[in-house]
Amino acid sequence: MICDLRNMQILIIGGRLPIRTKAIGMSEAFKRVIEVRASSWGALFDCSYKWEGEHLLRMRRPSGIRALLGTAVHAGTAAFDQAKMDRKPITAMEAADAFIDALHKPTDDVDYKQDRSLNMRQAEQIGLTLLTKYCHEISPKFEFSAIEMKMEPMDIDCGDGLIIRLKGTMDRSRIAADQDGAGDVIPDVKTGARLFDSESNVILKARSAQLGAYSLMYENQTGRHTVGGQIIALETASQARVGVSPIFNVKQPMTGTPTQKGLIEYAAGMFKSGDFLPNPQSALCSDKFCARWNSCIFRDR
Ligand code: SF4
Repeated sequence: MICDLRNMQILIIGGRLPIRTKAIGMSEAFKRVIEVRASSWGALFDCSYKWEGEHLLRMRRPSGIRALLGTAVHAGTAAFDQAKMDRKPITAMEAADAFIDALHKPTDDVDYKQDRSLNMRQAEQIGLTLLTKYCHEISPKFEFSAIEMKMEPMDIDCGDGLIIRLKGTMDRSRIAADQDGAGDVIPDVKTGARLFDSESNVILKARSAQLGAYSLMYENQTGRHTVGGQIIALETASQARVGVSPIFNVKQPMTGTPTQKGLIEYAAGMFKSGDFLPNPQSALCSDKFCARWNSCIFRDR
């Protein structure tokens, strides 16, 4: 189903009504479809030049042990929640099988020497601690309605022959029993080395775009209204801290307001112009995280 960027206020009450998007009568042959995975929206606005290299020019870089640990923790938590949702519950110990499997049999290339702050033995210990905490302290608080849900691609007609296609696999959804009014919450399981601030609050910086993309696809696919996103934080550092954020507004940054452009409209401008700006000040501007590092003339040398 194609959704016109001008009509997105049907999905988003209060969303901006974009005015520079017209593609009526455009032949299919002249349409250009750019796919943006929900998980890459943050990266698109961090260093767009890096995003272009990795997502449009297909430059690749193996991930490190910490990213592998994150993938494995996701697999373990999903196995636990899926079993619970299917009414065939398993223990944290049984869910650990999925974690161990994903940790030791990665499906993508891994550079085991990239991150010297973590080895595989430490990764296994941290991951098992996180998984145990998740199964005992976090999962029992929620009744999930979807787990690792592969979203139907959502096409947004941005005019001038450009279609932005939202894609992705959503970690979780749940009915918002703790909110006023009807609607679902889109929780996202986040792993990473630094997920809490100095007062032990879950850091929400730069989280809205990904969850906003999930919300739009979820509403488009299910017809259900969402009331916000929520971060389930599982910190892959030695303390293995876990926590849950409050529910926060995630759609508005994507769609904008009646007077301000949202990220989808900014992205459309970028794709139409072909201007992908470099950002050598990005926290990810390093040979560890950027596949365009070797050929980039903008980074510090
Ligand atoms: S090396 Fe730095 S500036 Fe260049 S593409 Fe990568 S992140 Fe961007």
